[in-house]
Amino acid sequence: EAKRRQDFVFLYSEGLDEQYLRKLDILEHLKYAADEKELTLLLQPKIETQTGKTIGAEALLRWHNEKLGFVGPDEFIPLAEQSGLIKRLTEWVFKQSVSYLKRINAGGDFSLSINLSAIDLLSDEILSVIDELEREMPELNKHLILEVTESAIVSDPDAAIERLNWLRGKGYQVSIDDYGTGYSSLEQMRRLPVTELKIDRAFVQPLVSSVTDQSIVRSTIQLAHELGLKVVAEGVEDVESWNWLKNQNCDVLQGFYFSKPIPFDDFNERLQGESRD
Ligand code: C2E
Ligand code: CA
Ligand code: CA
Ligand code: CA
Repeated sequence: EAKRRQDFVFLYSEGLDEQYLRKLDILEHLKYAADEKELTLLLQPKIETQTGKTIGAEALLRWHNEKLGFVGPDEFIPLAEQSGLIKRLTEWVFKQSVSYLKRINAGGDFSLSINLSAIDLLSDEILSVIDELEREMPELNKHLILEVTESAIVSDPDAAIERLNWLRGKGYQVSIDDYGTGYSSLEQMRRLPVTELKIDRAFVQPLVSSVTDQSIVRSTIQLAHELGLKVVAEGVEDVESWNWLKNQNCDVLQGFYFSKPIPFDDFNERLQGESRD
């Protein structure tokens, strides 16, 4: 019995060690990911619900390291946030986004959405990154949407709201990402200086078969519109959901039904193709 327990403890702590070592490994390599050109920024089209036209994209980070292989953002982003490395990654994402926007030669209503973590939102670094990029592209505010999650705001609402006001004052659009997964009340939502609300895919994916999710999404769209917000549904995977969301006047859609996140060149080709139609 004692021996078995010892084995169990050994195996258990070995498992923990492995997890721990993987984290250390990721953090060690992530430090240099931007310099070593291991990062890629994929683009997932954002679609105007009524017309099916591509009106923008969400920029999603990918990381490939020689030793670790592909590491998903769901694994490395939380570690980057805990360690503060996220600021470096976000700076890279901003710069890459500006270079994409220049190459797309975007018209008036094209916008790129980028994800900001709580640390980015509250840090001062982001201010100077934005100032620097505005010198390079003065009309940047017309083409960037900054996505922040409810949880990023909940951690320090007053500071977050102050920073969001700063961004809004400069003309940037701000989107609440993963809406519905946090615990923000209607009252809190009303205080937020945001322009867009993104309904989490947990409510959108089951739409066709779940009456409960239909009520949640329907009332969210209505409420958001009453607050003057644009509504995006993410995780649209079939044409039935598209039709349903069209009937509910959801403004913008995103999901595998239209496209997975794709490399810049493929995205640009898609845009050019649409403008020829
Ligand atoms: P998110 O911001 O909610 O991004 C949407 C995620 O949903 C993406 O996963 C996208 O590939 C996935 N998705 C889009 N449409 C569908 C669909 O129809 N079905 C399903 N099943 N999934 C869909 P991804 O690219 O793996 O990113 C995961 C998360 O990692 C993101 O969630 C975001 O929180 C974070 N992330 C990714 N890139 C960045 C970044 O540059 N900065 C920060 N701070 N976070 C990032
Ligand atoms: Ca997002
Ligand atoms: Ca989301
Ligand atoms: Ca998410």
